[in-house]
Amino acid sequence: MIWNETMECMSREDMRKLQGIRLKKTVERVYHNCEPYRKRMQEKGITPTDIQTIDDIVKLPFTSKKDLRDYYPFGLLSSPMSEIVRLQASSGTTGKPIVVGYTRNDLNIWGEVGARCFTAYGLGKNDVVQVSYGYGLFTGGLGAHGAVETIGGAVIPMSSGNTEKQIMLMHDFGAVGLACTPSYALYLADALLDSGIPREEFKLKVGAFGAEPWTEGMRKELEEKLGIKAYDLYGLTEIIGPGVGHECQHQNGTHLCEDHFYPEIVHPETGEPVPPGEMGELVFSTITKDGMPLLRFRTRDLTSLDYSVCTCGRTSVRMGRILGRCDDMLIIRGVNVFPSQVESVICEIPQLEPHYLLIVDRINNLDTFEVQVEMKEDFYSDEVSKMLDLRKQIAHRLQNVLGISPDVKLVEPRSIERSQGKAKRVIDKRIFK
Ligand code: ADP
Ligand code: ZN
Repeated sequence: MIWNETMECMSREDMRKLQGIRLKKTVERVYHNCEPYRKRMQEKGITPTDIQTIDDIVKLPFTSKKDLRDYYPFGLLSSPMSEIVRLQASSGTTGKPIVVGYTRNDLNIWGEVGARCFTAYGLGKNDVVQVSYGYGLFTGGLGAHGAVETIGGAVIPMSSGNTEKQIMLMHDFGAVGLACTPSYALYLADALLDSGIPREEFKLKVGAFGAEPWTEGMRKELEEKLGIKAYDLYGLTEIIGPGVGHECQHQNGTHLCEDHFYPEIVHPETGEPVPPGEMGELVFSTITKDGMPLLRFRTRDLTSLDYSVCTCGRTSVRMGRILGRCDDMLIIRGVNVFPSQVESVICEIPQLEPHYLLIVDRINNLDTFEVQVEMKEDFYSDEVSKMLDLRKQIAHRLQNVLGISPDVKLVEPRSIERSQGKAKRVIDKRIFK
């Protein structure tokens, strides 16, 4: 099912026209209502009349996370406080939180894009959906909540935590959809097993997972453990929250709601556009928002874009899996390492659980790199020689993928701390040295 066929299946030509019109309006809005933007544009020697089509977007200055912090809390609003009806803040994974203000119209847009996501997952008004993203300043909970209400589904505003109760309500209320981070879904999968309630008694069919990077391997794990189809849900507070993009039933890329959020891919260091299809930093301009529109916002997320039409019929551009944020990249002995690369290796090895931790340190001026990973219950009691073999095998595969060989430490099942929101998978002790 497609929620908004006109927008989701529009021809490329019409879409670019529409994006141009909307961008022009947004640029006028920020130029007249938001002083920092006006100043930036004046410094670059441009006025709103320089923006006529979507191609003109490259003339505009970038906006960074730092700008949001510098103008904290309300310096980037383009609407007066009398028009603002909601404030949300980023979860602050990296540094001080940033604040976003929404008008009534912005909340409607959020509901609309969220509805596209949950409809694409196959959910509708007859379905009960459990929202186990955190509620509060973090956009996850309220964002997914608004999406389910917009499609007319019955939302369980569960929030994260209280895991036993999560399982009880999921069972008793017959939740068909579950929205949470992939790492919390994994936690819930274990809790479901522990509950002793047979899986057939659950109605769960669909997962709407996001707010942190996850791999194809993790998808398989979650689909098997929960007996569901697991879909990607992408978003970020600065742009609106969850609902910026979603997978469809074909699970071959994350469709972006590009009639609201115009995407570009640039080189993370130079800011220059990269050739089509290549990996780089994702940049978004909001082209319909009123409260706090952002132009060319540097997400720090690394991915690529595919403009081919999807088998589902949607023409909207698809983004590849997010490798991670530029900020998540570890440089260990000169080699670039993303936690998601380690995850993809771990998920391929049947003896392992997808629970892992990367520990980086510097001892005698040399970087040390340890990967702790949990073993599956059935394998843990194995003989020592087998464990040693397995460690070697994991180190070897990681060496192939990363170009660097970590110390692999096999740890007991369930010994690595579980996350109820965004997982923390890296401990970099070098920061304190
Ligand atoms: P914070 O920056 O404090 O984590 P947000 O909650 O707004 O604040 O997080 C948005 C970020 O979360 C994105 O920029 C991206 O890095 C990550 N993210 C969100 N959804 C996904 C997803 N589906 N896949 C990968 N990463 C995601
Ligand atoms: Zn599709």
